[in-house]
Amino acid sequence: MRAIQVSAHGGAEVLTLVDVPVPQPESDEVLIAVHTAGVNFIDTYLREGRYPSTPPYIPGSEGAGEIVALGADVTDLAVGDRVAWCNGDQSYAEYTTVRAAHVVRVPDAVTDAVAGSSLLRGLTAHYLLDGSAHPAPGDTVLLHAGAGGVGLILTEWAVARGIRVVTTVSSDEKEALSRAAGASDVLRYGDDIADRVRALTDGRGASVVYDGVGAATFEQSLAATAIRGTVVLFGGASGPVPPFDLQRLSTAGSLTVTRPTLAHFTADPAEFAWRAREFFDAIADGTLTVQVGQVFGLAHAADAHRALEARATTGSTALEVVA
Ligand code: NDP
Repeated sequence: MRAIQVSAHGGAEVLTLVDVPVPQPESDEVLIAVHTAGVNFIDTYLREGRYPSTPPYIPGSEGAGEIVALGADVTDLAVGDRVAWCNGDQSYAEYTTVRAAHVVRVPDAVTDAVAGSSLLRGLTAHYLLDGSAHPAPGDTVLLHAGAGGVGLILTEWAVARGIRVVTTVSSDEKEALSRAAGASDVLRYGDDIADRVRALTDGRGASVVYDGVGAATFEQSLAATAIRGTVVLFGGASGPVPPFDLQRLSTAGSLTVTRPTLAHFTADPAEFAWRAREFFDAIADGTLTVQVGQVFGLAHAADAHRALEARATTGSTALEVVA
């Protein structure tokens, strides 16, 4: 089969197209013909070696496709099922094996392109609203990178719950997308973000700040948070946040800072199934209009990484895989 391999840690150029044998499922796994592989920021962190990984390896944590073989102990899935996953690790390939407990059936209302490139982002938005923090109707939250994959989904979902969402973005095009998703106010990055959020909230600040940008925004995130509010640092698109003195959380307003990761909110199969069901239901009933902003062929995975890292993407990013 054709697959993309990370040949060594480095830039997007280390992503190479290779021919490798089709993997065989272990007893608790299914073999899937991949139709869409999602391209996520974590794929770039792993490729660079910023997160631990051992080249050569096939990247890609999520996708959608059709089950073509079952491991001996798999009883609740069938050959021919259309499924998606977001706890996999070799999705940039024509075939991949995934543990059955990490696979979910995809309803007819959801396309392969959406499921395969947005389940990971959708479940992230779900646990950010219902896990890492619990903003209530009427609360104001600040969300960085409002036109990104997680950003657009989180905005639509939060607004549907009666939460006011203020976002940051880097361009007019992204501002328009963020507003269309329901953001009440869209700011440009800068040293005045906290002041502007306070001006929009009668001086209080945001109850929750969702920060997936990291190094470039974290100081403003702390400063924009209301007394007893929460900063959810969920990524570092601009780089990791340097260590800081916890005592600062006291003077900043008895703040809570958390650094969550999706795996801990989907490890339990029942929790994974619940979050996935809520995500697919929200697409089916029109609450979410998940946008696949760009689709690349499997052989062009490096271009997909370059676009993501150059801030040239909006919404989710997909690789179309045709066996
Ligand atoms: P996005 O589509 O949001 O892309 C990242 C965006 O971050 C860019 O489009 C850009 O938007 C903004 N950005 C700001 N500074 C930079 C920079 N220096 N370089 C690149 N981008 C920058 O990505 P995803 O939706 O895939 O992920 C968003 C974040 O969420 C990432 O940090 C990712 O790692 C994290 N994540 C965390 C998970 C978890 O469980 N912890 C799970 C899934 C994702 P703009 O141009 O508007 O600034």
